[in-house]
Amino acid sequence: MVFAGSGFHLFFDELSKSAAVVQFTGDKITAMETDSNGRIIRITEPVRLAMEGHALRSRPAECCGLLSGRGHVVTSLHPLRNEADTPETRYFASPEDLFAAMRRIREADQTLIGIYHSHPRAPAYPSASDVGMAFYPEAVYFIISLEPRIELRAFRIEGPNIEDVSVVICP
Ligand SMILES: [Zn+2]
Repeated sequence: MVFAGSGFHLFFDELSKSAAVVQFTGDKITAMETDSNGRIIRITEPVRLAMEGHALRSRPAECCGLLSGRGHVVTSLHPLRNEADTPETRYFASPEDLFAAMRRIREADQTLIGIYHSHPRAPAYPSASDVGMAFYPEAVYFIISLEPRIELRAFRIEGPNIEDVSVVICP
């Protein structure tokens, strides 16, 4: 199923319910803003705290959401409902929530910078399904783990390749 939106399309795999992709057609989204070499991403402390709160509240399920901002800094968090059949180990963002969040981001004149989800019981590293579902190589994928300790890491995922992106917390 393909929903046409203004500036982006959402592809929804009805058979497996395992893949949701936001694909942007042209507008500002090229600006998945990081530093010039793409190895550092900055987020504000309130956003980091909000992400941690979302992850803790959602336990034992994984939480997921979008991160947006201007320039090179993530300043806003957009929680999305996780509609995966097995939300303890996977995430599948509610298409309805995804549309609403993208609209809010556009209306705030921000750009989508990243996609986050939590690992309630696994380290902050992409799982095989995370890699399989990472259809958007320009995105920064944030993973917050809750066990064995709270840890936030970020990655670029392109095909089978996973690259670390340093997360810098700013005030
Ligand atoms: Zn994951």
